[in-house]
Amino acid sequence: MSRRKTRPRTPAAAAAPAVTATSPCPCGLDAAYGACCGRFHSGAGGTAPTAELLMRSRYSAFVVRDEAYLLRTWAPETRPDDVDFDPGMRWAGLEIEAATEGTAFHQRGTVTFTARFAHGGEPGALHERSRFARHEGAWVYVDGDFVDQA
Ligand SMILES: [Zn+2]
Repeated sequence: MSRRKTRPRTPAAAAAPAVTATSPCPCGLDAAYGACCGRFHSGAGGTAPTAELLMRSRYSAFVVRDEAYLLRTWAPETRPDDVDFDPGMRWAGLEIEAATEGTAFHQRGTVTFTARFAHGGEPGALHERSRFARHEGAWVYVDGDFVDQA
């Protein structure tokens, strides 16, 4: 841990990141936010068709602090009453490492990912295998297990 800071990916590293429809999507796909996760957040694009796209859109929802989206894509049995956004948390990127099932032909799926962040200026990473299921036809997040960092 010799590096003091990671290089910010965007010039605007101050308050909550201003993501607009034409910004690169926070989820890391090569698309603008409005055409990628933003269409699921607004509902204009319906619901995410795969567990991986739901995972990406939920990561982006944490970035843009869309609590309503996070709650409506959370399985009723594990859904919290509200989402506590940590103002010191700055999400810095998402990498999807593996996915099982979770397509149009499945009822369940898992997505393993690393989400990088800076918290109070200190870089960190969340490495998790998340479980997803269908609820009333749409993919929802059920729960997840932390995966040991290599
Ligand atoms: Zn996206």
